[in-house]
Amino acid sequence: MENRIIGKYKGTTDGPLVVITAGMHGNEPAGVKALGLLFKMLEVEPVTNPEFTYKGEIIGLVGNLKAYNKGVRYISKDINRCWSSEHIHFLKTQNNSELQDEDLEIKDMLDIIGTELATTKSKKLYLLDLHTTSSEGIFCISTNEAESIRIAYEIHAPVILGLLYGISGTTLHYFQEENTGLPTTAIAFEGGHHDDPLSVNRCIAATINFMRSIGVIEAHDVSYKHDEILKNLSETLPKIVEVFYRYQVDENDKWEMKPGYRNFDKIQKGTLLAIYKDEPVYAPFDGILLMPLYQKQGNDGFFIAKEHHVSDYK
Ligand SMILES: [Zn+2]
Repeated sequence: MENRIIGKYKGTTDGPLVVITAGMHGNEPAGVKALGLLFKMLEVEPVTNPEFTYKGEIIGLVGNLKAYNKGVRYISKDINRCWSSEHIHFLKTQNNSELQDEDLEIKDMLDIIGTELATTKSKKLYLLDLHTTSSEGIFCISTNEAESIRIAYEIHAPVILGLLYGISGTTLHYFQEENTGLPTTAIAFEGGHHDDPLSVNRCIAATINFMRSIGVIEAHDVSYKHDEILKNLSETLPKIVEVFYRYQVDENDKWEMKPGYRNFDKIQKGTLLAIYKDEPVYAPFDGILLMPLYQKQGNDGFFIAKEHHVSDYK
């Protein structure tokens, strides 16, 4: 892949600017493939369905192009921990020749998104960040903004709250009005295992449900299949959970997650979850397991969440 821009599309009527990123982690190709197909679908749809309208404009980007081309999560550092306002401000003051790897990737993304923001007539920015994980299971990650939670709910995948308190410098932390200059709503979707071919379908379904939820496409133009793919998968899963615990892994090569754990597994305090630096790691609380770490890069060993009542958010 040579070009960071996967596709661009402009509707015939006004609407928000939508930025969809995939491959922020280079070993997550499903979202990139999904966006490639999505832009083809957007080109074809008005031909086969003359009633189809798209409101506003949309651009799809590969996040970490260099890592993507090498098939690794990152080159020097996790790009999705680098989006703190301070670091971005620092990057903006640097010449590209002084930067390397992930910093250069972010700078390039900021340039592209900055150009879109400078030329758009849109009054609102949406970010959807597509990911996959080293374990099975789909979910959305919301900010604590009401619209982000509503969209996540309407994507029809379990909604994870509170994840952003345990970590910093993700795209969801950065994409806010104070940094973009436009009212901004951001959300991330995790489409399943990195290598599962169905993760591509799930990323397409989530993106289309996202576009319906923010009103850039009409509900009657959306195939029910997209809803079914995600509804079937999340049927037995909690609707909304909140993360309250994260296990930090500084030395990934000394981390060994016990096999067989999946996202949303119910775990009990005292359950053996992993071996770290030759010592057993037991669950410190009862709860719902999220993102058990089965890959050789990354510092989040696992998260523990608790279920929330949907009625609190409707
Ligand atoms: Zn990722």
